[in-house]
Amino acid sequence: MLKSTLVALLLTLLARKSYDPMITNDVSEEYDFIVVGAGASGAVVARGLSDKTGMTVLLLEAGESDYNNPLVPSAIKYGELQQSPYNWNYDVAKQKYSLLEIGKNAKYPGGKILGGSTAINGMNYVRGSPHDYDSWEDHGAKGWNWKDVEPFFRKNENSVDDKMSEKAGRGGLLNISISYENPFTAKLKTAAKEIGIREVDYFDEIEGISRFVCTRYKGLRQSSSEAFLRSGYKERQKSLHIVTNALVSKIHFVTGTSGKQKATGVSFIEDGKIGNVKARKEIILSAGALRTPQILMLSGIGPKNHLEEMEIEVVSDLPGVGANFQDHFGHFVHHAIEDSQFASHTTPESITEYIMNGTGHNSAALGGSVVLHHRTKYFGTNVSLSNKKRPFPSIQALFTSANIPVVFEPTKNHTFHTLLLLAVLHPKSKGEIRLKSTNPTDQPIIDPNYLSEEDDIKMYIEGFRKLEEFEMTKAMKEIGFRLVTPQVCNGSLYTNPPRPDEFYRCYVKSFGYAAHACCTAKIGQEGDEMAVVDERLRVRHVEGLRVADASVMPHVTSSNTQAPCYMIGRKASKMMKQDWNMNE
Ligand SMILES: Cc1cc2nc3c(=O)[nH]c(=O)nc-3n(C[C@H](O)[C@H](O)[C@H](O)COP(=O)(O)OP(=O)(O)OC[C@H]3O[C@@H](n4cnc5c(N)ncnc54)[C@H](O)[C@@H]3O)c2cc1C
Repeated sequence: MLKSTLVALLLTLLARKSYDPMITNDVSEEYDFIVVGAGASGAVVARGLSDKTGMTVLLLEAGESDYNNPLVPSAIKYGELQQSPYNWNYDVAKQKYSLLEIGKNAKYPGGKILGGSTAINGMNYVRGSPHDYDSWEDHGAKGWNWKDVEPFFRKNENSVDDKMSEKAGRGGLLNISISYENPFTAKLKTAAKEIGIREVDYFDEIEGISRFVCTRYKGLRQSSSEAFLRSGYKERQKSLHIVTNALVSKIHFVTGTSGKQKATGVSFIEDGKIGNVKARKEIILSAGALRTPQILMLSGIGPKNHLEEMEIEVVSDLPGVGANFQDHFGHFVHHAIEDSQFASHTTPESITEYIMNGTGHNSAALGGSVVLHHRTKYFGTNVSLSNKKRPFPSIQALFTSANIPVVFEPTKNHTFHTLLLLAVLHPKSKGEIRLKSTNPTDQPIIDPNYLSEEDDIKMYIEGFRKLEEFEMTKAMKEIGFRLVTPQVCNGSLYTNPPRPDEFYRCYVKSFGYAAHACCTAKIGQEGDEMAVVDERLRVRHVEGLRVADASVMPHVTSSNTQAPCYMIGRKASKMMKQDWNMNE
């Protein structure tokens, strides 16, 4: 174990820019399928379509290769990754209802590398609540209820941990392992018990507290590239061509035999030059919820008014493209604790444990350990069709024991901090993606429209009230766990709970985001004018074009979004195999 972790770390450090044998230099004129974007969904789709199917597939990725990258594998590098060129670092439109510097100097992240956001994310792997998917079906995604989608999660997963739930998949390509335990996680569980929160198996029902599961193997990150592209790539080198630094700028259409517009190929920009490549069968957009709508709109598919305003020839008027933007908005919340053993991120012991065994605090991004999913009164406000019959959690608190300094600390009478991410899981506020220009290298305009709905603020305050309950438990008082209140919200006056709603109202406005963008090309039925794809992910009113990524979700799920994106990729490739009579 020690040997393998050391060797892997050494390799990543030594061979930074070496030649990636998986990347092709020789792009053919035509492929059966073209997949755009090698993130959570795109890598799974490309693998599925090219694995012993007799088909040829081209995977085009705008970012660079992840081969021997020194930052991607290690959780300790999470912060550095966010500042690296492997993050798109999007600007966000000035927000009307929230006060965050977003729009001034805060950026919205997204992976720009083979593996997409799975190569830079927090590695937390949660399928979500089964009710999410039943609700998707209620919202028009026929065939996407929990019973339908559960096998696709399971087939992707390879639980490498004895302690993992019986319900987790085994034998799939994505290695997942359970997070660590330390004195802090034990305290959190005791505190949860004190206030009646149950421990749950979050491969089934997530409402309660659980140790979380990471996309990690032997201490190293498992991105979609590592799991689905690199494993056994030599066997697929003829059937799957992968090109990096290739930004797809446009889809080309001709009038098909049915009279509909048929997607026939794409243009892409590589090293400043434009390349063109044709698809015999289909093009699959997996560029993520921010970029897939951009490519559709640049290609003439989107809201007619907006396309005309941009002087783009309309191929299909689909008002839902770029609409319905959803995200979990969240906030890093700092608590103080008095004893160093409960905030162990940088201790020599925890670093030694990671180097020796690939385990412990440093094997998880920001030291994430325990996660709480909690239902509030305002639950499911964004899923109104279902919220009466389906008990969605609406708040997530992701506890870490990272000792991160706090800039706004008003009192300095403690030694350590912990950090948690408090997120609203079903915000009612919706945003949109629009084109800034017709230049494909320009970022799209991203307007999340956070906090435009009062209920979202109420949900957030309920989340803080739950954290106050934690603060008041005997277990947490013993370690001096208490909220570090920011002075910017007159925090020094509110050291102890219960704090007034006004304080939290101020706190929430300086919120961040959870980077779970989705839903901007949603699945829906004929008759729903905002639907962009049908239940088989085919773009409506045209032929030869599908979307398979976070964009197709009808609404955001009740937890982190990579697991559903992996599932979407798996189900998409199964549907395409059925539609084109390919081997399973
Ligand atoms: C910083 C961060 C932390 C996160 N933490 C977690 C977490 O802990 N747990 C969790 O479950 N989820 C997390 N997420 C969210 C999760 O990673 C995403 O929901 C998921 O990866 C989305 O999958 P996707 O396939 O839709 O898009 P992505 O994985 O983002 O992949 C899209 C790919 O398309 C490429 N692309 C874009 N435009 C073009 C173009 N024009 N041409 C060619 N290629 C293009 C991109 O470079 C990218 O590689 C996090 C995300 C971020 C950014």
